[in-house]
Amino acid sequence: MRPGIGLADVQDARGRTSRNLGGEAPEAGLNLNLPPRPTPAEMDMKQEPSDEVKKEFVQRIVEWYRQYGRHDLPWRRTSSPWQVLLAAVLLRKTTAQQVASIYPQLIEKFPDPASMADADEEELKKIIQPLGIEHQRARLLKELAKKLVEQYGGKVPKNLDQLKTLPGVGDYTAREVLCLAYQQAQPLLDRNMIRILERALGIKSEKKRPHTDKTLWKKAEELTPKDPETAKAFNLGILDLANKICTPRKPNCPACPIKSICKYSRSK
Ligand code: SF4
Repeated sequence: MRPGIGLADVQDARGRTSRNLGGEAPEAGLNLNLPPRPTPAEMDMKQEPSDEVKKEFVQRIVEWYRQYGRHDLPWRRTSSPWQVLLAAVLLRKTTAQQVASIYPQLIEKFPDPASMADADEEELKKIIQPLGIEHQRARLLKELAKKLVEQYGGKVPKNLDQLKTLPGVGDYTAREVLCLAYQQAQPLLDRNMIRILERALGIKSEKKRPHTDKTLWKKAEELTPKDPETAKAFNLGILDLANKICTPRKPNCPACPIKSICKYSRSK
């Protein structure tokens, strides 16, 4: 570096600073084109939170869920693995409210896999018609029930790999059944968890399909409480928080139980 020439900060249009050589004003030929310095908020978003913050994050969500969660949803009031699996499959591509409107009738008519395997397809379609794509859904439910009857004696398996062999059951649904019906502390990484992890803790996947990112699954697993009942409250709390408060477009931060530790909220 030449004597008398030092580093100076220059603000860009967003108010961020970049560095150039020379005195107060940037001189032609002396700008090193160094990348702009991240703002304090940007730096905070990139930093992994401390263990204390993560612990508080989990505790607050669990407590909030116990007080304000959607405990009235009918599939949350049962521990029947078949009923939990049925709801998990139906809840794809539709809302909880829609599923709740047909669920009591469905489980009354088809209380176990054997009755669903023998179901009259037209009758089944009529019941699930309010959810849409009833032809595909009816076919899938019957295939699922038949496989349970033929391969698992009419019971829902308690094992992750066996669950994943069932029609329409992927990793998330299999873990959902284990967590909600079989009292296993399982991580549940879906778009809701992905959104809240990124906003609140700055934990983000670099992959195009974050729900398949093993590193992100590992982080969700590390956060999930080891006690099965608390793990269930945490997972359901994330779902409800994402549905009621931390919505995709307009999060209602003032009403959020984790606003004081949330990176997104603190950066605004
Ligand atoms: S404070 Fe706002 S952005 Fe953060 S988790 Fe809550 S609702 Fe979402």
